[in-house]
Amino acid sequence: MKTLKIAIQKSGRLNEKSVEILKNCGLSFENYKSSLISTVQNFPLEILFLRDDDIPEYVQDGIADLGIVGENVITETKAGVEYLQRLGFGKCTLKIAVQTGSEIQKLEDLNGKAIATSYPVILEKFLTEKGIKSDIRTISGSVEIGPGLGLSDAIFDIVSTGGTLKSNGLKPFADVMQSEAVLIGNKSILDNPEVAELLQRIRSVLSAKSNKYVVLNVSKDNLQKVVDLLPGVKSPTVVPLFEPNWVAVHSVIAEEDFWDKINSLKAAGAEGILVMPIEKIIT
Ligand code: ATP
Ligand code: MG
Repeated sequence: MKTLKIAIQKSGRLNEKSVEILKNCGLSFENYKSSLISTVQNFPLEILFLRDDDIPEYVQDGIADLGIVGENVITETKAGVEYLQRLGFGKCTLKIAVQTGSEIQKLEDLNGKAIATSYPVILEKFLTEKGIKSDIRTISGSVEIGPGLGLSDAIFDIVSTGGTLKSNGLKPFADVMQSEAVLIGNKSILDNPEVAELLQRIRSVLSAKSNKYVVLNVSKDNLQKVVDLLPGVKSPTVVPLFEPNWVAVHSVIAEEDFWDKINSLKAAGAEGILVMPIEKIIT
């Protein structure tokens, strides 16, 4: 049996959620801040803790078989890796921003202007697609101070709330890329049975997270109306209550239309609705 290696971020925005998803897959391992490598006790897997910038290339070169990293970093490094699964965390948008009151009003106004960024590859690709020629100034961090110092006319960076932009006198100007954490793999390991097993576990954790387990009481007179609203994994479970003519209905509902569903269930006669998290869904 081959021992796989998965690379995750050592510290930073993706570290905690990456560790969490692996633990939720039932993997037990030590997670000391000082260690660079950790052996999973109950699965043939080693975890490498790395700077996120290095992860795509390590996976491309087969030093790690798998990796968890932001799409922005994969695109920026141009690594040849396989996208296995979007993971639903680390969501952010890469945007061009300009100073409030800037004369830059439309994309074409960026022609001949200097843009400071840590993501020159993604920016270059975007500008080329739009037929715009700017002077891309690559700096490794704190790009927001560029325009204030006269280093650049605009910046291109990750923006989540916009708070950092605002406090530096900047405003969002154009969205270039949406990103989230993804599981990537080296092209040669895709048929490996351990990879298939891990992927199945990750998918069951993700699908459990986006669903809730619901138990509710309803009188038999309203049962059909309530059941029509509930899919369940196969179909809802209906069990009798001690109270004659009443039943409890157990089902699974998706997080995304949760409140709409709950309100419709109440309107259809559901009472005493209990909502519980699901740990895993294995189909
Ligand atoms: P490292 O030390 O590993 O190189 P870093 O400083 O480059 O870390 P972080 O700031 O920890 O990186 O961000 C890691 C990833 O988290 C980003 O590449 C991006 O995909 C994602 N991310 C999500 N939201 C944000 C945000 N608001 N700002 C920065 N990155 C974000
Ligand atoms: Mg980094």
